[in-house]
Amino acid sequence: MTASVPQLVALLDGSLVDVDTPLLRADDLGVVRGDGVFDVASCRNGRVTDLEAHLERLATSAHILSLPEPDLAGYARAVDALVDAWDWEAHPEATVRLVETRGPEHGGEPTCWAMMQPVPDSVRREREGVRVVVLDRGHEAEETSELPWLLPGAKSLSYGINMAAKRWAKAHGADDAIFVTPSGLLLEGPTSALVVDLDGELVTPRQDGILPSTTLRTLVDAAPEAGLQVRFAHLQREALAGVRGAWLLSSGRILAPIVSIDGAELPISPLHPTLRKLLAVPGA
Ligand code: PLP
Repeated sequence: MTASVPQLVALLDGSLVDVDTPLLRADDLGVVRGDGVFDVASCRNGRVTDLEAHLERLATSAHILSLPEPDLAGYARAVDALVDAWDWEAHPEATVRLVETRGPEHGGEPTCWAMMQPVPDSVRREREGVRVVVLDRGHEAEETSELPWLLPGAKSLSYGINMAAKRWAKAHGADDAIFVTPSGLLLEGPTSALVVDLDGELVTPRQDGILPSTTLRTLVDAAPEAGLQVRFAHLQREALAGVRGAWLLSSGRILAPIVSIDGAELPISPLHPTLRKLLAVPGA
């Protein structure tokens, strides 16, 4: 039975198919091995935010996994079809997910599609505040870039660990997580980038072995308009105790202020209203 959430699917030739339509074979490596890549862009009132950046990151992810180069024109066509067909009045905020799997196990073409979904209320509520726990990712950042089989910097379909980290957070009284390396270097959330306010300066973990966030890139580019800049630095876990505030950033949620870390309350930074404006958070 179809869930009551409105969802639209488009193929790369620009045709729309019902979300009920079978698109994958039972032996598609995307489902049997999580072998494939995806990307997710925000859409507001008929406009897709930074589609180019998401297409570029999809291509980078595919390259890291040695997948065939994605048909970027085809994805753009699929996104156009979804934007045209979406009911923006009923659902002014949506996300579009672009997927490329490695295709059938014993040979065949990659399976590719795009899907549009409304941003759930639960995600929009995160803009009021999120409680996080800090979780060990199990390996150092520098090592990761030297260990390509860990797929650093790729948005692969193998998100089982990321989802498990979020479930762990929820089972332990929080909403989300921040990963650290065993030596205590802060990294990112399971589905978000981390930015902190250190004495009025915006600082974010260096991008070693983590996913380059498009939302963070938008903030980096827009910050000078407000006389701010975002510094990339090695940030130790202990630094969290002294920050004026911190945020999780990602495409659907955009900007979520962290209100507690491992159970200790954190104030919302005085820079929060400025960041909301810079990132055009709805209602800002
Ligand atoms: N880091 C990880 C691991 C993610 O999965 C995501 C998004 O889902 C992000 C960061 C944020 O990326 P973006 O701002 O492009 O959504």
